Amino acid sequence: GAALKERSVCVAGLGVSGPPVARVLLAHGARVGVVDSREDDATRELAERLRAEGAQVFLGEHGLPEGADLVVTSPGWRPDAPLLAAAREAGIEVIGDVELAWRLRPADQRWLAVTGTNGKTTTVRMLEAMLRAGGLDAVAVGNVGTPVVEAALPGSSGPAPAVLAVELSSFQLHWSATLAPHAAAVLNVAPDHLDWHGGLEPYAHAKGRIYAPGTLRVANADDTWSTRLAAESGDPGTPLYGFTLNTPRAGQLGVVEDLLVDRAFVADPHGGAEELAELSDVVPAAPHNVANALAAAALARAAGVGAGAIRAGLAAFAPEPHRMAGLGAVAGVEYVDDSKATNPHAAAAALASFESVVWVAGGLLKGADVDELVRDAAPRLRAAVLLGRDRDQLRAALARHAPDTAVVEVADTGGEAMTEAVAAAKDLARSGDTVLLAPAAASMDMFADYKERGRRFAAAVAALG
Ligand code: ADP
Repeated sequence: GAALKERSVCVAGLGVSGPPVARVLLAHGARVGVVDSREDDATRELAERLRAEGAQVFLGEHGLPEGADLVVTSPGWRPDAPLLAAAREAGIEVIGDVELAWRLRPADQRWLAVTGTNGKTTTVRMLEAMLRAGGLDAVAVGNVGTPVVEAALPGSSGPAPAVLAVELSSFQLHWSATLAPHAAAVLNVAPDHLDWHGGLEPYAHAKGRIYAPGTLRVANADDTWSTRLAAESGDPGTPLYGFTLNTPRAGQLGVVEDLLVDRAFVADPHGGAEELAELSDVVPAAPHNVANALAAAALARAAGVGAGAIRAGLAAFAPEPHRMAGLGAVAGVEYVDDSKATNPHAAAAALASFESVVWVAGGLLKGADVDELVRDAAPRLRAAVLLGRDRDQLRAALARHAPDTAVVEVADTGGEAMTEAVAAAKDLARSGDTVLLAPAAASMDMFADYKERGRRFAAAVAALG
C-alpha cells in the first residue's frame, strides 16, 4: 500500500478490470487517471461514478495523463497501443491487473494459477471445489466471477481468501512481470489470438511465464507445448509434475482403467499410486474434461489437499453454461450446446466426444486454420450446418476433407439465423445422432457474445420439442 501512496497511476481502459483496478488504487492512496477511447452513454455513466470516487477520467482519444509514473493496462490493450508505447518510451512501467493484485496481496496468500488455450475456466472451478472440499478458504478468480484485484485484497466481508485459484489469459501473463504462483499449469497451447501476440511462439511463451522461479510446475504430458514450456521455464530446482490421459509414470497423474490415479504427490512415486476418483466422477466425462480434472487435482495436491477431497470436489463441481451443456433429446437426437468452443482446438475436443454428429459451426475464425479440425472430425460427421461470416472457409475445408458430408449453409445473419440452423440440423440428423453447436469461431459477427449464441441455440432446440 505505502508504495502506491505518492504515485500517479494511469488506468488504461474501462473494461472489465478497469473500474476495480481504479478503486483499489484509490483505496491505497494513489492519484488515479483513467483513460478510455469510448464515449458512449454507458462509459460516460461509469466515468461519472469513478469521478465521484476521486478518480480523474479522460474519455475519447487521449494520451498519457500528465505526471503518470505507472500504467495499469487492461489486458486486452495491444502493446503497440499509442498510450502504452508512449509510456514505454518515457521509461514508465506498464503492468496489468493481475500484476497489481500480485503486488498488493497479503504475504501469506497462496496462488494456484491456470492458463492454456482451452479449459481454463473449467479447471479453476474444479480446483476451487477441490480446495474447499479439502477445508481451505479458496476462491476462483479470473474471467468468470470475481476480478483478481478484488479477491487479492481484504474485503468488506472479511479477510482476503487464503488460496486463490487464478485463471490467467495470455494477455494477462504478458503484463505480469513479477508474478510467481505457488503452483501453476499450462493446460494446452493451440493457435488462438495470434493477431494480438504476433504468432504462435510469442503466444506460447506468454503462457510459459506462468512458470516463475520457485513455482511448482504442472505440465500436460500429452501436449507438446505445455511439456516444452514447463521444461524450459521456471526454476530447474522446483518440482515438475505431469498429467496424462494414459497410464501415469512416476511423477505423473493419469488414468488407469476407469480411475484417476496419482503417482506424483505420493510418498514413493516409483512404487506407490493413490486412487483419486473414478472417471465417472468427471462431468462431462469427455477426454478433454478428464485432462482438466487431472490438472485441477495436481494443483490441489500441490496445496496439500488429500485424495478424498479431490473426489468430493469433483462431485460438487457443476459445469459452467455453454460448455458441452446437454439440452436433452428430441426424436432420438441429442442436442449439445458448446458455444464456448470459440477456436478450432476447443471444437475438436467437443467433436471427438460423440460418434455421429450434425455439426453447427461458423462465425469469426480470427485467422485460424480449420483443415486439421475438419480432417480429424470427418469420420464422425453426419452433416454440417454452417453460419456466420467465415463459413466459406469451413465449407472449403469440408469439401477437401469430408466430401461426402452433407452441408447446409445459413446465409441469414439476423436474429432468426440460429432458428434456421437448428431446423436444418434437425432435418439432417438421424436417431442416435448428436446435434452439436461447437462453432470453432468467435460469435461477434452475429451475437453479443458466446452466451447469446448459446442461448439462441437452446431456445431454438426448446421450440422443437
Ligand atoms: P477457457 O476458460 O480456457 O475458455 P473453458 O473451460 O471455458 O475454457 O472451455 C472452453 C471450451 O473449450 C469448452 O467449450 C470446450 O469445448 C473446450 N475445452 C475445455 N477444456 C478443454 C481442453 N482441456 N482441451 C480442449 N478443449 C477444451
